[in-house]
Amino acid sequence: MTEQLTDWEAVAAELDAADPLAGFVDRFEPAEGLLAYFDGNSLGRPVRGTAQEMARFVEQDWGTSLIRGWDEAWLRWPQETGDLVASAALGAAPGQTVVADSTTVMLYKVLRGLADAQVAAEPARTQIVLDTDNFPTDRYVAEGVAAERGMELVWIDADPASGVTSDQVAEVLGERTAVVLLSHVAYRSGYLADAPTITDLVHRAGGLVLWDLCHSAGSVPLALDDWGVDAAVGCTYKYLNGGPGAPAFAYLAARHQDAVRQPIQGWMGRRDPFLMEAGYQPAEGIRALVSGTPPVVGMVPLRLALEQLRQAGIEAVRAKSLALTDLAWRIVESWPEDLGVSIASPREHDRRGGHLTIRRHDFADVNARLWEQGVIPDFRSPDGLRLGLSPLSTSFREVVTGLQAIRAMLG
Ligand SMILES: *Cc1c(COP(=O)(O)O)cnc(C)c1O
Repeated sequence: MTEQLTDWEAVAAELDAADPLAGFVDRFEPAEGLLAYFDGNSLGRPVRGTAQEMARFVEQDWGTSLIRGWDEAWLRWPQETGDLVASAALGAAPGQTVVADSTTVMLYKVLRGLADAQVAAEPARTQIVLDTDNFPTDRYVAEGVAAERGMELVWIDADPASGVTSDQVAEVLGERTAVVLLSHVAYRSGYLADAPTITDLVHRAGGLVLWDLCHSAGSVPLALDDWGVDAAVGCTYKYLNGGPGAPAFAYLAARHQDAVRQPIQGWMGRRDPFLMEAGYQPAEGIRALVSGTPPVVGMVPLRLALEQLRQAGIEAVRAKSLALTDLAWRIVESWPEDLGVSIASPREHDRRGGHLTIRRHDFADVNARLWEQGVIPDFRSPDGLRLGLSPLSTSFREVVTGLQAIRAMLG
C-alpha cells in the first residue's frame, strides 16, 4: 500500500465513531491553538472543571475551614487519595498506597526502606539491581542509596529501543540480591516489562522488587496485589492528569509495612503526631511512608481526574491506548522508507506501553518547529520523537492530524 492510497482521516473517523471512550475527550480543557497533543505521557491535560474545583477549594475549604481543614479532612488525604489511585489504577486493596512528596523522594524512601529491611534480615544481600536505560532519577537515587549504605549496584544493560527482559533479570539474580528496581514501562521506548514474571523471579531469588510505574499508572492495567509486588512508586502528573508537580504515589504491600522503615522520619509519619512527644515511632500501616505536611493543594486536581479514570475503567483505557498506538504505527509505517524514520518501540501488544517513539537524525529540530505549530510530541536525545497518546484525552482524529503535520515537515 502506498502512502497516497489510505485516507487516514476516514480511518480515524471510523475509529472515533466506534470508540466507547470518545466522550471523555471533551471532558478535558480545550487549549487554544493546539492541533495535536502527544505528550500526555509527560504532562496530562487538565480535566474540565479543575479551575472551578481549585477556586472552590480556596474559597470554601481553605478559606473557610482554615486550620480546621486538617482535622476535618486533609490529614487523611495522603491515604485517602492513595486508595483512590490504588483502586482506579493499581489493582491494589486499600491501606497500601499513599500520595505525598515527589516520585524522586518517594523512590528514595521506599528503596532505602526495602534495602535496609533486606540487609537487616540477611546481611549478605547487598545488591541493588537496576538497568542502564532506566529514567535518570531512578539511577541517581539508587547510586545515592548504594553509597549511603555501602551497597553494590548491579546494572542490566537494557536495549534503549526495547527494554529489560525477564531473562536479563534472571541472569543477575542471586543470593546477594536485595532489591530490584525497574520501570514497568520504559520512558524511552515504551517497552512494557513483564512485571508478574519478573516479580516472581525476584522473589524466588529471595529479593524484593520495586516497580517505577510513572509511565504505566493510568495507561496499562496493573494488578500489584495479584502479582505479589513488594513496592511501587509513580507520578500522578502523567497519565493520571494531576497537574504539574502533583505529588507522587507509593505502594507498599501490607505484609512489608511492619519491617520496612523509611529513612525520612518526620512528624506526619509518627504515631499520634499531635502529641509532639520525644522520639520517633512510625505510625501504623502505610501512614509511616508520610514524612511532613501533605501537599494538599496539589491533590485537588488529581482527585478530580481520578474520577474520570474510575468511570472509564483501566481495561477500556488500555484497549483504546493500543488502538491509538496501532493507528500511529500504521501511519508511520506507510511513509516512504527514504524519509529515514524508524520506529523504536515494541510492536507486540503485550510488550507495548502507551507511547511510540520514532527516530530520525533531525527530530530535535523538527520537534521545536512542531511545537510552534501547536503539534506537541516530545524529543528524547539523541534522535527520538515520543508520541504519547493519552487515551482519555486523545482522539484518533488528533493522531492523524499530528502525524500529518510531522510528515509534512519531513519533506
Ligand atoms: C517522569 C518520571 C519520573 C519523575 O520523577 P519526579 O520526581 O516526579 O521528577 C521518575 N521516574 C520515571 C520512570 C519517570 O518517567
